[in-house]
Amino acid sequence: MIGFYKHHIQYITENAVNPDRRRYAVKEEAPRHYIDLDIYGDSAVYKVPRYWKDAVAAYSEDTLQAYGIVPWHINRVRYQLTDALKVGDVSNILRLSADIGHYIADANVPLHTTENYNGQFTDQYGIHGFWESRLPELFSNNYDLFTGKASYIENPQIRIWETITQAHLGLDSVLAFEKKLSIEIKQDKQYEISQRGQSNIKTYSSNYSKAYHESLDGMVERQMKASIKLVGDMWFTCWVDAGQPNLDSLMSYQFTEEELKQRKEELQRWKEANIYNNRTHEH
Ligand SMILES: [Zn+2]
Repeated sequence: MIGFYKHHIQYITENAVNPDRRRYAVKEEAPRHYIDLDIYGDSAVYKVPRYWKDAVAAYSEDTLQAYGIVPWHINRVRYQLTDALKVGDVSNILRLSADIGHYIADANVPLHTTENYNGQFTDQYGIHGFWESRLPELFSNNYDLFTGKASYIENPQIRIWETITQAHLGLDSVLAFEKKLSIEIKQDKQYEISQRGQSNIKTYSSNYSKAYHESLDGMVERQMKASIKLVGDMWFTCWVDAGQPNLDSLMSYQFTEEELKQRKEELQRWKEANIYNNRTHEH
């Protein structure tokens, strides 16, 4: 797997932002990136049904779509990636590997688990980019992002919810610490003008960012590391579930459209034949 993924690191890096690009063109895309847990009441992160069907039964699909579906969408992409690995569909393996990485990283961002995702309800407008872009841009050079070996995930849907839970538990700190600093540090010290390419933009000042970063006590690094670990674990799990196909041969080999079509049809037939044996697969 390492050979295959290293070989395609540039593609995956460049395409990791595709899901955000699609948000403006595809209307189904936006809710795949977040879940507004607060709208489901107290302790929602522990109470919302883990599996899609149960959640639809509890709240209706319209409600879920309105407030975000990231925990379930990651699991759906996992099935798609497993299928792409089964048929050796290189372009979809790469596309879906990049996509799932994006959604997993979003799920690790505390502000992706709340309706107050940009501090708009607490007079902290801009905090989203502050936490997920400005802080890593300034400080990630010093992060230790080595996660070690990937491990097989026994129950991916539950593991995804553990991720969401961990992110959501950080939310109070993300909001409260910035609020505290915004009172302690004068407004004109909070921002600075910095250059981005040809233009000047107003950003959070380096001192203000440093103070916020220190108060968070490694949270951005922990969440980033958790993202990396889960992306690796998820790719590995899909590959194992696909029957551990040899990816070396896929590095250079390009299937023709006809071959891909055939293999997809084969998979479809296999699935139809196995549908009764696979009923328990999800739980
Ligand atoms: Zn996103």
